[in-house]
Amino acid sequence: MAAEIQPKALTRKPVLLSKVEGSQDVVSMAAIVPKEDGVISVSEDRTVRVWLKRESGQYWPSIYHAMPSPCSCMSFNPETRRLSVGLDNGSISEFILAEDYNKMTPVKSYQAHQGRVMMILFVLEMEWVLSTGQDKQFTWHCSESGQRLGGYRTSAGACGLQFDVETRHVFIGDHSGQVTILKLEQENCSLVTTFKGHTGGVTALCWDPVQRVLFSGSSDHSIIMWDIGGRKGTAIELQGHNDKVQCLSYAPHTRQLISCGADGGIVIWNMDVERQETPEWLDSDSCQKCDQPFFWNFKQMWDSKKIGLRQHHCRKCGKAVCGKCSSKRSSIPLMGFEFEVRVCDSCHESITDEERAPTATFHDSKHNIVHVHFDATRGWLLTSGTDKIIKLWDMTPVVS
Ligand SMILES: [Zn+2]
Ligand SMILES: [Zn+2]
Repeated sequence: MAAEIQPKALTRKPVLLSKVEGSQDVVSMAAIVPKEDGVISVSEDRTVRVWLKRESGQYWPSIYHAMPSPCSCMSFNPETRRLSVGLDNGSISEFILAEDYNKMTPVKSYQAHQGRVMMILFVLEMEWVLSTGQDKQFTWHCSESGQRLGGYRTSAGACGLQFDVETRHVFIGDHSGQVTILKLEQENCSLVTTFKGHTGGVTALCWDPVQRVLFSGSSDHSIIMWDIGGRKGTAIELQGHNDKVQCLSYAPHTRQLISCGADGGIVIWNMDVERQETPEWLDSDSCQKCDQPFFWNFKQMWDSKKIGLRQHHCRKCGKAVCGKCSSKRSSIPLMGFEFEVRVCDSCHESITDEERAPTATFHDSKHNIVHVHFDATRGWLLTSGTDKIIKLWDMTPVVS
């Protein structure tokens, strides 16, 4: 009999605080302004807007700035109030926001790419602006001089871009599913490694500099947690979405990973649990439980006068089994399977209720989410999606 341990409620479901409405097209990216009741957004409708909460409780624009091309991405640095905006025409424009967020001054612009800018990252420590574009280029510019410092050609356009300040490693996740790690110097870069684990393109990357773990989200519906710091090649898959994972955010102090997708799902993963890698699938010509031959095993089928069966695999032990020996389903949250998957009958018996306790919470936002931003100081989550509305959610954890 399994010990009766209640799954710990680490989070409560997100509570909708505000809707920020008025964009004419999809809000590509947005950020919560720290310590202010404000939101900065860039949209496909060619506008950069700063929204401040008014006495009425509604968010109204304090800045409305029209750009020459649709805005594809942004990076905001709160310390310097520097806003870098990437455009569909390949250029990056920089602005400094006034202290009261009522004014925005253009600083400079770079012609960084030949096509749409896909991701921007401003690194204050190095005074670098890193960017990826649809032209399959990763480039970095000096934010002081505006000069282009270098570039690297990726195998496809890249939506995932992260930087580790301490080691100057840049992580690039591209549409071919590949993740590239480069070591950046002032004016050159060297390839550290590439790896591939998704069957679809990488849509988002998230780096935890403390645990030295990289998360990649993919159009194949899964997230992979790459343990870079552990140096053992551990990669753990997280299955909790029914459609493309489109954005990720990580809260280091609570060790929560937030993933959002085209299915409208907001999944909050507790990363403070020890997860296991899924086993390699074993090869066999007959069921490793009942010994019945699989359909290509003609010799045994003939010898034993038995009909060949279809091969399945138990997600827990990796054994090749027939359908009869794997008739049951179970979630295996500690292996990243939050949904029920095929397991063999003996594994089904061995999985305890404690092991079935979910390690993630699920919320349905009811619309396709393209961008997420988490403000850890207040526990606020911002989502923007194809419904053109920016939503602010309260995620304050409730300790049970
Ligand atoms: Zn069998
Ligand atoms: Zn099994």
